[in-house]
Amino acid sequence: MIIHLKDLQDKQLIDQLAISNKAIWFKEAGNLVFVLPSAVKEIPVSLNEYTLQSWTLSDDIQLASRKYKSFTREVSWSDTITGGQTGHTVMIAGPCSVESEEQMEQTASLLLECGIKNLRAGAFKPRTSPYTFQGLGLDGLKLLDKMRTKYGFGIVTEVRDATNVEEIIEYADVIQIGAKAMYDHGILRRCGKANKPVLLKRGFGSTLQEFVQCAEFILSGGNHQVMLCERGIRTFETKTRFTLDLCGVAYLKENTNLPVILDPSHAMGYAYGVSDLARACVAMGVDGLLVETHPNPSVAKSDASQQLNYEEFRALMKTLNPIAKAVGREMI
Ligand code: PEP
Ligand code: MN
Repeated sequence: MIIHLKDLQDKQLIDQLAISNKAIWFKEAGNLVFVLPSAVKEIPVSLNEYTLQSWTLSDDIQLASRKYKSFTREVSWSDTITGGQTGHTVMIAGPCSVESEEQMEQTASLLLECGIKNLRAGAFKPRTSPYTFQGLGLDGLKLLDKMRTKYGFGIVTEVRDATNVEEIIEYADVIQIGAKAMYDHGILRRCGKANKPVLLKRGFGSTLQEFVQCAEFILSGGNHQVMLCERGIRTFETKTRFTLDLCGVAYLKENTNLPVILDPSHAMGYAYGVSDLARACVAMGVDGLLVETHPNPSVAKSDASQQLNYEEFRALMKTLNPIAKAVGREMI
């Protein structure tokens, strides 16, 4: 149950009411918000006199539920606004990993040419093997920072684990929590206190319920700038790297109030399918796309098989706007 209470000033009283009702509380836009377990179906007597409005929810998808906020939350950073009433589908593009300054400059030229405002690239890579490229770490973040300063890009970069979360919060415009880190509670709780938008990727073995509940950790920490990213789940299929769960996307759009971003690159795992999938994603009327592109994919230090080369990326970009328009949206 979510309850909006009168704006009490006595912190001791608020804490005492919260503890006795097993509630998490925060203040948002002048509201004092209490979130109680969803098993609570009636306003507790001790909160009665302070209650302004309440919502009874059927499961622990609460702050992210459309039953609580019927509109999609707006998330904004740098020059970008998505969600809300904007109708924007934001393109976030770049290589899997930051590899060198030259590669970052090449990425910057491509993005500028295509009118793209947001650059993605990982500096702390959560690799499947410890014997492969692990990312440039802090040096990579500094290169991303340079691209932001020089060209004004919004920077989307991932946190690998709780040991680098502070650096990512400092350097990123959007904190990406990767699929393998979705369940890292150190990261989730820290991001709940961060003053930056979070792009939460779905763990590839996670249900929609588990995915959205991870977003609840961030929301209930007081950070309401959360976007959900579907990036493919593991099924019995082995011909593609993962299976992009578009049914799940329809569920998220219908039932949650968080912007939904789609990542066809990691789902497909092979460049040949990424552009078709990206078009399908835009046709679903989503709030954003995350696409990997590399100046020379064959020598990429991570995710080489799935990154579009620049020719493929340019060709894709030309096709997206008409599709976005057909579903009442605009690519930004
Ligand atoms: C990435 O975006 O490069 C990445 C590692 O993605 P995921 O966490 O979805 O595997
Ligand atoms: Mn990648």
